[in-house]
Amino acid sequence: MNYLLLFLAVALGYGVALFLKTKKIKQISLYLAFSGAFLLAITVFELLPEVFETPSKSIGIFIMVGILLQIFLEFFSKGAEHGHVHLHADTKDFPWLLFISLSIHALLEGFPISEENNLLIGVIVHKIPVAIILSFFFIKAGYSRIITVLFLFLFALMTPIGSFISENSVYIDTYHTEITAVVIGVFLHVSTTILFESSSNHKFDLSKMIAVVVAILLAYFL
Ligand SMILES: [Zn+2]
Ligand SMILES: [Zn+2]
Repeated sequence: MNYLLLFLAVALGYGVALFLKTKKIKQISLYLAFSGAFLLAITVFELLPEVFETPSKSIGIFIMVGILLQIFLEFFSKGAEHGHVHLHADTKDFPWLLFISLSIHALLEGFPISEENNLLIGVIVHKIPVAIILSFFFIKAGYSRIITVLFLFLFALMTPIGSFISENSVYIDTYHTEITAVVIGVFLHVSTTILFESSSNHKFDLSKMIAVVVAILLAYFL
């Protein structure tokens, strides 16, 4: 069931993109700010306490590795995880670098999802705008519908696969805390970048501020 929901989040994003046809970008950036704040709040309220149950400095190293990993991945994805794509689509071939970097990110974020936290909701809320923006990119860049749907289909499988592996592999489970710490780093970087980039030129935007505060409150009271 959880796997299906994670998959459907991407399908929904594609549907919304087809429906909106690149207009209403303003509303999407509002929802993006909400999703970033929500993901950050789930990370701070639930994932951090989980890995620091027994405090140790080495957990901090894994968090830093996650931050660095995400910075590295964004050299190839050009920021698709946090809501914009700046690829120059000269060829209309399958964009492998974008695909691989996004897939590593999406696979990882499936690992810490469990019954004990609300990360499933956090990842779904975060995935929908990412899927919308990816779809916009593919449509605007003139990719064929087959490549677009194939890309989104494979991308949608990654988080459920990550979640499935972590639930079913005893080997992976021995490193549960370390992997969760890496994903915390990934989430910290992605969500704070969303928040940073969603305020254009540091101008105060009341509606965005409200979206962020509501997201934090919701995550707290879940
Ligand atoms: Zn960016
Ligand atoms: Zn993500």
